[in-house]
Amino acid sequence: MGIYQIFRNLRRVGQVTVGTAFGRGGQVKYVAACAAEDCGWSVEYDDVSAAMVAAQGHRCHVR
Ligand SMILES: [Zn+2]
Repeated sequence: MGIYQIFRNLRRVGQVTVGTAFGRGGQVKYVAACAAEDCGWSVEYDDVSAAMVAAQGHRCHVR
């Protein structure tokens, strides 16, 4: 579980969930977050396509 609380899941790419969440500033952001327990990778973006690209590019080191 990363630092983001995704409240609407949009897409799943492998172990990465792309969804909407509140960013650090409290605004709604598009977040890609890895579900692997020991990974903790997550990023926030202002648009969904950037989050999708990041999700597809994530190479999880946890197997
Ligand atoms: Zn990962």
